[in-house]
Formats: sequence, C-alpha cells, structure tokens
Amino acid sequence: MLTYPDARSVVRALAPDEPVILNRPHAATRAARFFVEKFPGKSLYAVKANPSPELLRVLWNAGVTHYDVASIAEVRLVRGILPEAVLCFMHPIKAPSAIREAYRVHGVKTFSLDSVEELEKIVAACTDDAGEAATDLRLCVRLRVSSEFSELSLASKFGCDLTEGPLLLQQARQHADWLGVCFHVGSQAMSPFAYVQALDRTRAAIAEASVVIDMIDVGGGFPSVYPGLEPPPLEDYFTIIHQHFYALPIAYNAELWCEPGRALCAEYSSLVVKVEKRRGEELYINDGAYGALFDAAHVDWKFPVRALEDDLIKPEAEFAFYGPTCDDADYMPGPFALPEDIQAGDYIEIGMLGAYGAAMKTDFNGFGATQSLIVEDEPMASLYDGSRARKVSDNVVSLR
Ligand SMILES: *Cc1c(COP(=O)(O)O)cnc(C)c1O
Repeated sequence: MLTYPDARSVVRALAPDEPVILNRPHAATRAARFFVEKFPGKSLYAVKANPSPELLRVLWNAGVTHYDVASIAEVRLVRGILPEAVLCFMHPIKAPSAIREAYRVHGVKTFSLDSVEELEKIVAACTDDAGEAATDLRLCVRLRVSSEFSELSLASKFGCDLTEGPLLLQQARQHADWLGVCFHVGSQAMSPFAYVQALDRTRAAIAEASVVIDMIDVGGGFPSVYPGLEPPPLEDYFTIIHQHFYALPIAYNAELWCEPGRALCAEYSSLVVKVEKRRGEELYINDGAYGALFDAAHVDWKFPVRALEDDLIKPEAEFAFYGPTCDDADYMPGPFALPEDIQAGDYIEIGMLGAYGAAMKTDFNGFGATQSLIVEDEPMASLYDGSRARKVSDNVVSLR
C-alpha cells in the first residue's frame, strides 16, 4: 500500500475523484499494545468492527492473539490470514454447518450461547462421526445486561436474563471443558460503571447456578473519542473491571477476557471525500449512508472533520452532508463545522472511521469504489497519545 505523510499530501498528489481511506497502522499498533499491556486479562479483537486483512496483521504483530469472530466467513478470513490465532465464535446464534466447520476444520473450541437450543446445536455439531461427544468445548453463556451507559444499545437482541441464566450455566457445565460468562454492555460505553452493573448481574447468575466458572468475558463497549463523546481514561475502566472481577465467586485461576472492537481500530482510518456540490449549508459529498459514513446517517454519529484546502480561511460554519446515492436517506445531519467558504471541488477529511466505518461500505448505486492508502500523521483524536490519560497513577492495574 502506498504511503503518504497525511491527507493533504494525498489530495495534492492524487486529486482523487473517489473517496480514499487513509489507514494509520501506527495508531492501531498503539491501541493494541495499550490493551495487551494494560488490560488485566486477555483482549480479543472483535473482527466485525473492521475485518481488513492489513489491520488483522497489524493487531497480531502488536500482540493480539485471540479474535472474536461472529460468522463462518469471519472464521475463514482470520484463519487464512493468521493461522495461529485463537478464534472464538461469539455469536450466540449460529448455523449448525458453521459450528461444525469452525470446530472440525478451523480448530475453534470456544462458542457463546444464550439458549438451550443453541447448546444442543453446538453439542450435536461437534459430535464426531462415531457419535463421540466433544470433550474440549469452551462454552460461554451470554447474559443480557443493560446498555444504559452506551451510545449504541446491544441489550435487546442477545443474552439470557436472570431467570434463565443460572439453569443454562448448569446445563452448559455438563458439556463444557471450560465454562465462561460473557456479556456486552453496548458500544461506546461512556462510563466504567456500565461494567460494574453487568458484573453484579454476573455475580447473581453464578451464585444461583453454583457451578465452577473458568472465565469472565466483559465483552466490548470500550469507547473511542468523538466530538461530544469524550470518555474517561480507559485505565479507569480496566481498574474497576479488575476489582469487580476479583470479587466474583469463580475458580481461583479463572481468566478475565474482553472483546474490544471500536477501541482497537477507531483511530486506524480516516476518509478523504470530495465536495461535489454545495446547496446553502448542505454539502453533497462522494461517500455517505451506504459507504463508510453509515453511522453518521443512521445513528447520527458525530465524526471529526477538517477541510484540506490551504486557502480556506473564513470562520467555520455548520454543514450537513448528502451522500452520493439517489436516496434521500443518504443524509448526514451532523452538524459538521467547516470553513464558511468551502465549495464544490474542495476536499474534506473525516476522522475516526476505522471502526464501523471502513467496514460498512457497500456498492449500492455504484458508489463503492475506494482506494486505501497509508498515512503517517496522528489520527484526528486519540485515547492513546498521552493527551487524555491521567498521570500514570497507582491505581492502574497491570498483571505484568
Ligand atoms: C460488536 C461486538 C463486540 C465489539 O464491540 P465494541 O463496542 O466495538 O467494542 C464485542 N463482542 C461482541 C459479542 C460483539 O457483538
């Protein structure tokens, strides 16, 4: 992949007519090292946030050895790129053929579930042709927890509640070599207290089930930083999780896992778009709701923006964006602050699109073509450049 110093030099060199994704491997490396060194347990990368092969290699080289995959296509993808990675199939509803292929062909042992039906499906799919049941299954029961501290809820679709959880833990224990509890507090959790609540619920489920628990997986939800969404330092999350993990009634050697998606890759990518037309305070740009800006359109996410022209000097005004497709829904309300005299032909860099941005692009209406390049400058915001962390304090927990 070609390397440039920054977005401005890309525009000067290429004047691109189509959107360009700018990747920052150094930013993903820094995020991965942060989790590997400071999270008091194991960090699995949640592949759905950004499955790009280059990023997977960057994370592996930075020390991320475990990957949370949710479909057989993600299993095949990661196995093809990282033959030694540990893959954990953490979607609670899977096709039997996907479970069978993952277990038999790709060496996947860890599966999540939130129902007896799924437990039976996993057990059947991992039984061999002679009728011998698998003895090496690592099962994780997914609990439903609140998403009240998060910007994007994951509370309704998956997870069993406290009336079903304890029984399911007992049933899963009979088939599992290793039994865990997992949950997801929702994406972009703005307070560490989200995990406290979820771990309290975990405690209640374990106490009632009275089975040996070998692993607690606190899922994803670790935030990145966006305009208007500035979370506390990640060290605060890690400290609080570690304290509450230690207080659980679990095996003395139980492991602590987490599954960050957003926090590992949000800073990895930005996007250069071209303004095709201006109508008042609305800019028609060449990426949108069906491209990398899905979240800007559909959940009103605010991404940082900057104009890439040197000659725009007027004060900033607030703009909304239209994407390139013929659909009215291809609209991003923002508001996005840009120089007042921005106009057709100018370029804009939109930041923090490494998570659920670059991964969301479709070819709808013929607008999917995108080039990817590497740039060397800093991402438009960072949780890891030392600017936001409190002084490295005594309460930073590290197992090293
Ligand atoms: C999406 C997802 C993640 C990653 O969530 P982030 O909020 O991006 O950290 C982790 N685990 C599971 C099961 C998920 O579905």
